[in-house]
Amino acid sequence: RPRVGVLALQGDVREHLAMLEGLGADARPVRTRAQLDDVAGLVLPGGESSVIDRLSRILGLRDAIVDRIGDGMPVYGTCAGMILLADEILDAAPGQRTFGGLDAVVRRNAFGSQVDSFETDLDVPALGAPPVRAVFIRAPVVERTGERATPLAAVDGRVVAIEQGPLLATSFHPEVQGEARFHRRFLDRVDGLG
Ligand code: GLN
Repeated sequence: RPRVGVLALQGDVREHLAMLEGLGADARPVRTRAQLDDVAGLVLPGGESSVIDRLSRILGLRDAIVDRIGDGMPVYGTCAGMILLADEILDAAPGQRTFGGLDAVVRRNAFGSQVDSFETDLDVPALGAPPVRAVFIRAPVVERTGERATPLAAVDGRVVAIEQGPLLATSFHPEVQGEARFHRRFLDRVDGLG
């Protein structure tokens, strides 16, 4: 079974581990370089992207993650994880950086302070029926999709799910709704490497 990691510096790590284990993966928290070396794919959880960025640098993980992404490691980022995957971000915290890899410009907290959180049924053609019950929590949006990336879903014309080869990102949190199809898609990419 595929051995995959969830970056476990901050955020909703537990939910992702449970989801991945439920799908048959050997899912492990990743906090060290050695743990990263040991996994074939990585989930970047929701949380606070600027905090995850900072901790990844303090712990000496950032460069290793950037290298693995460059080598084609499958990565699935939700919410803060989408921000961390983007090549470019808008409304970044002071000094905030991303791991990058995803040819996209992503805006943090894009739905504004009046609409902190909401849920909607989202049509995701790549996943088929039924629609995805999507939970947005201070969510980002893809402001611009680069040539190498493909949008997978949008809310009011704003892209909230995107894919680029082994990289997958959603503005929302399938792991809190028990929606397994995005994690399945990520694991399919990991299996495809073997
Ligand atoms: N607003 C958060 C950030 O900038 C993301 C919120 C989330 O992951 N639910 O990282």
